[in-house]
Formats: sequence, structure tokens, C-alpha cells
Amino acid sequence: MTPTVRTRIAPSPTGFLHLGTARTALYSWAYARHHGGHFILRIEDTDVARSTQESVDQIIASMRWLGLDYDEGPHYQMQRLERYHAVVEQMIAAGAAYRCWCTPAELDEMREAQRARGEKTHYDRRWRPEPGKVLPVIPAGIQPVVRLRNPLDGSVTWDDLVKGPISIANEEIDDLIIMRPPPEGAAEGALGIPTYNFAVVVDDWDMGITHVFRGDEHVNNTPWQINIFQALGAPQPRFGHCPIILGEDGLKLSKRRGAVSVTAYEEAGYLPEAMLNYLARLGWSHGDDELFTREQMVQWFDGSHLARSPAQWDPAKLAWVNAQYLKQADDSRLAALVARELARRGLGPVADDLMRRRCGLYKDRCTTVVELADWVEMHEVPVVPAEADVAQHVTDAVRPALVALRDRLAEIDWDAATIAQVLKQTLTAHGLKMPQLAIPVRVLVCGRTQTPSLDAVLALFERRTVLARLQHL
Ligand code: GLU
Repeated sequence: MTPTVRTRIAPSPTGFLHLGTARTALYSWAYARHHGGHFILRIEDTDVARSTQESVDQIIASMRWLGLDYDEGPHYQMQRLERYHAVVEQMIAAGAAYRCWCTPAELDEMREAQRARGEKTHYDRRWRPEPGKVLPVIPAGIQPVVRLRNPLDGSVTWDDLVKGPISIANEEIDDLIIMRPPPEGAAEGALGIPTYNFAVVVDDWDMGITHVFRGDEHVNNTPWQINIFQALGAPQPRFGHCPIILGEDGLKLSKRRGAVSVTAYEEAGYLPEAMLNYLARLGWSHGDDELFTREQMVQWFDGSHLARSPAQWDPAKLAWVNAQYLKQADDSRLAALVARELARRGLGPVADDLMRRRCGLYKDRCTTVVELADWVEMHEVPVVPAEADVAQHVTDAVRPALVALRDRLAEIDWDAATIAQVLKQTLTAHGLKMPQLAIPVRVLVCGRTQTPSLDAVLALFERRTVLARLQHL
């Protein structure tokens, strides 16, 4: 019987949820959902100096925002030290791992000598027990590390879900450190800290992980991990290593060259479903489909059609995807998002109904919620029209028409149909064409030359605001 699919995402809480991690989280999640399996969140917090609770909270918040719900976890590695400790002891007892008392100075010396001989640097296995081998004398005052007793010959082979078959000769692989002593100054009896490659295997084993999707940067770690699975007699998951995401400049997407966290895109006004859709396409395809729902992705994501070559982050495409989702989004939902954005700017609440109608009117021309908030903000905060626009459009030729329009607007019923009627009547009375009147009104009232239909826009202002902005003609 094939085991139930169990996938996981295992971020290190040393910063925000990175876009690359979000993408592999999405693939892991979608794969589990596709197969009716389980998706697990594990926090890999063994880098004690760099891990923070704030980062854990951010990661969880980003997962929730993206709707990547997990069935188990978060599990924390630092709460599992006893388990790693027990497994290490088992491995030592079985001859699959051994203690090594090399000091950092000795290791430096070893590498130096190897370099001088023109060799690739490697651990020379001096503490590796072999039948008949006499090991060095255990030095005093040194806390040992534990190393994997990696096989010396043969090779490690796996069929990568993304990259296809991969094979690495064991002679290329060092006896990796799998456990370090507790940090200096740790309490008496404190347990050692496992290294990434060891903890990840014990966890994937204990958590019954069947499929691992992760970034390309781990492909070189996989041979060690497979050897550890084998040493433990544990079932090996299938691995899929997704190529890195490149920035617009063709280099690895990095913080130094733009936003790389999910949070940054949330703050910039992207919708989670747009983000998911865009991230999904960045390394996976389903025919020519560019826009699809989460449900469709779950239905389609069977681990095939994962791209082998790196995808390039394309802000213009993300903006396009987001614009499509904004257009479809429910006005009440957008109103709540815009209200939050305006609150961030220190602007007070706007009546729900007005906010909804404004969002409905402007959403078609926006790429982000932040942009939508800019449109709504123009209703709430005095605008400062550009002098050049005023000079160009608010001319003496149209001033009498503007004054007449303002006087009519002061007395009519305040709705789009009546405003439209008054606009038309003013045009006729002054022999003007619509843009000659509408553009100066836009400049003065909205601070911009282009808006949706002017009657609809004006109707969504308070009448007194419009009159005040047309005051000094
Ligand atoms: N903590 C590792 C990372 O964030 C997890 C890698 C893995 O999925 O095995 O890169």
C-alpha cells in the first residue's frame, strides 16, 4: 500500500518568509492537497543565534495570508533535541557515526596541508574507526562533534522530481558533522545541537514525510541526507529541487536588489490569491494557463511539469496578475483592505457604503490595493493640483463654464445621473466639448487629468468637498 502523501515546509526563522520558500511551501501544500495528504510546518530553529520568535510569527502570518493551511505543526527543532541525541547515540552504537575531537586549529592545519598538496579540502577521517585502526588519544578539555560514517564507495542516486536522475559518488562526500557540542557557557548537561542535514532527516523520518520540495541550494545536501536515511533504515522521501528564482537582472533574487519577502508584497497591496497564482507559475505550468484558482491548482498539481530552469521574477507580470484579481475582487473585501491601508496613512474611517462604491469604481484601473487607496484618498485629503495642469487646463476660456457648473452643482440632487445631466447642459450652454470641461474639473477636484467617468467620480465625493475644490476660480 502506498503511504499517504505527507509534505512539509521547513523554514528557518531568521527573517521573513522568502518568496522562494513561499513557492516551495505552495508546491508542498498543493501536492499534499492534490493527493488528500497532509502538509506540515516545521520551524528549523537550530541556528539559535539567528532565530527569533518575531520571525516565526512573521512566517506563520505569511502562510496564513497566503492560505497555505497546515495540518500539523509548527514543530520546533529546538524542542526535539532529546530525540536527535537519542538517534545519534544509536548511530554511534551501530557504527554509523563516530565522535571526532579535532580542534578548529587542527582542521585548519589539515586543510592548509591539503591545499599545499593541491588536493580538494576534506576531512581526513582521522577519528573514523576502522577495524585494526588505532585512533588518536582523546585530548583533554575538548568537546567532540559527531560525524556521519559515510560509505567510502558506491554512489548515491535518486530520481529528482524536478531534475530527473542524479547520482553522486560517495568518494566525493565527506564524513559530515551531524552533531555539535552544546555552545560554550551552556548549562551543565545541555544537549548538543544537530546540524541541518541530520535534524532534517530525523524530522522527515519521524514526521513520515513522503515528498520533499525545496530549493536548488539543497541539492548538494541530499546525498548526505540519503546516506543518513539509509544508515537509519528509514524510508526515503522523494525529493524535488526547484531552481532558484532570478531577479530582473538575471542574478539570484536577493534582498539587496528588491523585495524578497511575502510580507513586503502584502504591504505593497498585492492580493494573496494573485501572489499564489504568480508564484505557482514561477517554475510550474499547466498548459498555457496563466490565471487559475487555488482549487484548480490543487486539482492540477501532481508533481509533473515543474520547470528545470530558473524562472525570472517579473514585477510587470505580477502586477498584471494582481490587476486581474483586483478587478474580480468583491468590493466589500477591497473596502476593508483599503480602510486598513488608509489607517496606516493616519486617515480616519470612511463610511462603509461610500468606501465600497469607490473601490468598485476605481478597482479596474489599479494594479494594487495601495494604488486603489490612493484613489480613495483623493476623496478624503485635499489635493494639490500640479501647477502645469492648472495652467494648461483651467484657462480663462473655460472659467465661466466652470463657475456656472459649480453654481449648478450646489443646488442639484447629488447623484451621478443628475450630475451627468448638469455637465451636459453646461457644455451646451458654453459651446464646449466634454474634455474641455471635464479635464479642468478633474485637475481641480481630483488633482489628476484622468479618472473614470466624471459624473460617477463626483457623485462619490461629498458635495461640499467638490464645491470647496472649485471655489477659487
Ligand atoms: N531550513 C531549510 C531552509 O530553510 C529547509 C530545507 C529543507 O526543506 O530541507 O532552507
